[in-house]
Amino acid sequence: MSAVAERVTKYADRRRRAGELAERYDFAREPLALYGAVAEAQERVFARARADRPSVDALAAYVVRAALPDVMGAVMAAGTETLREAVLLRFHEGDLERIVTSWLRGDAQEGTDVFLARAATSPVLEALPEIARALPIAGEERFCPVCGGLPQVSLFVDSGEALVTGQRRLICARCASEWVYPRMTCVACGETESSKLVVLADPEQLPHLRIDACERCKRYIVSVDARLEGHAVPVVDELAALPLDIAAAKRGFTKVTPNLMGY
Ligand SMILES: [Zn+2]
Ligand SMILES: [Zn+2]
Repeated sequence: MSAVAERVTKYADRRRRAGELAERYDFAREPLALYGAVAEAQERVFARARADRPSVDALAAYVVRAALPDVMGAVMAAGTETLREAVLLRFHEGDLERIVTSWLRGDAQEGTDVFLARAATSPVLEALPEIARALPIAGEERFCPVCGGLPQVSLFVDSGEALVTGQRRLICARCASEWVYPRMTCVACGETESSKLVVLADPEQLPHLRIDACERCKRYIVSVDARLEGHAVPVVDELAALPLDIAAAKRGFTKVTPNLMGY
């Protein structure tokens, strides 16, 4: 696929899916509307990054100059009042380059800072895997084979072969790369003892989504079953798992990586 076709397909799919799920799930309408607006800005950022090809040393400065203005514009158009105010404050007072650098290092940050840094940087990393590959890896539990980031969502797909169980893949929260990961294995600590692995689901309301949690490390990830919903777009469907996120939090589990919307 050409770079242009790939970009159009990827971001158009994400926007279309956000619209579809917003219609279907009232509880996720607001975050999905914001996600759709941000994805539109990210598509422009992706195209710009492919053309500009910044160096890894200039990444944070590039993101501030060439990506953040579009993302901030999307927030001003579609964000909640609270988010709009927080973003305006960052724009006027924040050290934006530091916000991006801290996020790349995996430092603990305020929610608005994580949102801005991630929304603006991830399309650049998606556009330029060579930059993603050159990022320093912070901490041993990070394991995207391209950028060293943590997984955002787990995906079950049909293996295409009878008698073979479907494959499990993880999708990176930073650069959206996918890699194969064993089923029935905690994505945070590697636990494989089935008595320690907990599945939370709501088959009535969210048949193609579930939570895979671990009693040993108390972490969890949302899993999307593409065998049950063929046109799911995992990073977008993950945002609709909100009722499951709430159920997991009540049981003391925390997500391996909060999603772009912060939950
Ligand atoms: Zn990655
Ligand atoms: Zn675990």
